[in-house]
Amino acid sequence: MEWMTSALCAREDPELFFPVSATGPALREELAAKRICLRCPVLRPCLAWAIDSGQAYGVWGGTNAEQRAVLRQKAGSSAPARLSSAEPRSAAPSDAPTNPAPPRAD
Ligand code: SF4
Repeated sequence: MEWMTSALCAREDPELFFPVSATGPALREELAAKRICLRCPVLRPCLAWAIDSGQAYGVWGGTNAEQRAVLRQKAGSSAPARLSSAEPRSAAPSDAPTNPAPPRAD
């Protein structure tokens, strides 16, 4: 997953991207994370990977888990093939780290 080397979130507090709930301060953290995603140069491959690999927690590609579930449902059963067009299949979920947070660049 070469795109992770350009991930803006690698320089941010991981707690922003994995808020503990969707209300109160956690909601503000989620919104702050999504604002970072909007400036991220790898938003598209990140989102495609998160949907393809079924990431059930955290903010990935400017979306939370519920939003990704809706996107996955709308894409239907052919979702992996279509969503992966933004990233080569060599970056398939089998390469996925066990820790859902992107690796830090430093
Ligand atoms: S979660 Fe994805 S889109 Fe958001 S900053 Fe990290 S790499 Fe970029």
